[in-house]
Amino acid sequence: MTTVLIAGGGIGGVAAALGVAQAGHHAVVLERNAQFTELGAGIQLGPNAFRALDRLGVMEGVHQGAVFVDALTLMDGVTGERITHLPLTGEFRARYGYPYAVVHRVDLYTALLDACRAYETIDLRTDSAVVRYQFDGDEVLVELVSGEIVRGDALIGADGIRSTVRAQLLADGEPRVSGHTIYRSVIPIESVPDEMRWNSVTLWAAPKRHVVHYPIAGGKFLNLAATVDNAATEVVTGRPVDRDLVLDTFASMAATTRAFIDLGRDWRTWVLCDRDPVRRWTDRRVVLLGDAAHPMLQYAAQGACMALEDAVSLRDLLEPGEVDFPLVFERFNDLRADRTGWVQQVSRAIGEQVYHPDGAEARERNTSLGAHTVTRLFELVDELYQEPVPSMPLA
Ligand SMILES: Cc1cc2nc3c(=O)[nH]c(=O)nc-3n(C[C@H](O)[C@H](O)[C@H](O)COP(=O)(O)OP(=O)(O)OC[C@H]3O[C@@H](n4cnc5c(N)ncnc54)[C@H](O)[C@@H]3O)c2cc1C
Repeated sequence: MTTVLIAGGGIGGVAAALGVAQAGHHAVVLERNAQFTELGAGIQLGPNAFRALDRLGVMEGVHQGAVFVDALTLMDGVTGERITHLPLTGEFRARYGYPYAVVHRVDLYTALLDACRAYETIDLRTDSAVVRYQFDGDEVLVELVSGEIVRGDALIGADGIRSTVRAQLLADGEPRVSGHTIYRSVIPIESVPDEMRWNSVTLWAAPKRHVVHYPIAGGKFLNLAATVDNAATEVVTGRPVDRDLVLDTFASMAATTRAFIDLGRDWRTWVLCDRDPVRRWTDRRVVLLGDAAHPMLQYAAQGACMALEDAVSLRDLLEPGEVDFPLVFERFNDLRADRTGWVQQVSRAIGEQVYHPDGAEARERNTSLGAHTVTRLFELVDELYQEPVPSMPLA
């Protein structure tokens, strides 16, 4: 049995720990925060995420609070008309083998964390911010902010978009600030009028802005996310923001969209960041995973899905007993780089070409997407939701 250190206990880090333990190894998760927690917002999980959760043995735990929405609905956020509608029930489930659902992040995270806690071979350490790593023969030495040195046979950097491990491994600077600002609010369903309780992920597309809403936590809450391309340059993470500012920012949208925005309370704001894809993210016994390796805009709703796929992919490469980590990590990197790089690019493209166009481009979007049959819509999302194809080229 080897010891694998994991920097970061987010969704990617705890999923990786589970994979490491399932492969017969010891995992030590080093989380900088005082607690293992996730944000109180919603997250969409495609069938590829459920496939990964099933393989990690945690699908049932996630199913409990999940809302199995009937459709992904794209609305014109200016005219208020429906553009297109991807049904997520019968044919969708049959095609991909797994459902599409929206969950409370905490529910997803708790299911993963509980599964980790059932393993004696997983140590979950808080207050353990990783500062740097170095090699000592066949070992990796990880220095924590406290000065403590933790030894292991390998290190997985799952420490998110501003990864310390990545900064040392790739030295490629800060993430790209997208210039897009998101406002998020989660509200009790009792404050939502009956006629606005739609069982779908609904996206309202408008020039340089869009609004998404869906029910979460077994339908107890409505998750609202409103995004504007306002050329923001400052990095903001979770700052409370005045409700009037949000109302003003989306005042040009259709009346129904505004009615949803109007329901929001206690808004918080983030400025979205991502990175260009890179092909290599290993350094001998050190590898990156999840957002540390391939941070993306949330427009394809795939960042966490990719982190879960990563965890399964890595687990499947780890044999019990002795492990040639440099080789395994290179293989993992080779298997994952094309697909995750492609999803990073798709996520940006969806924002530009589907969510934010104006004028003639918006009309063209409505006409072309509106003309697609359900089968054609499935074909458009096949690459995201089907079993990953490792050799997929970058777009
Ligand atoms: C607005 C928004 C909506 C989204 N919606 C979706 C969606 O619908 N579907 C989807 O699949 N994805 C979505 N995502 C993306 C998803 O949230 C991320 O891809 C996912 O959370 C990444 O998980 P991670 O574990 O790799 O990184 P993180 O969640 O960032 O976790 C990193 C962890 O590392 C810890 N850490 C950081 N530095 C250190 C250090 N030096 N030492 C120790 N610990 C450290 C952090 O405290 C944190 O716990 C969305 C993202 C955003 C911003």
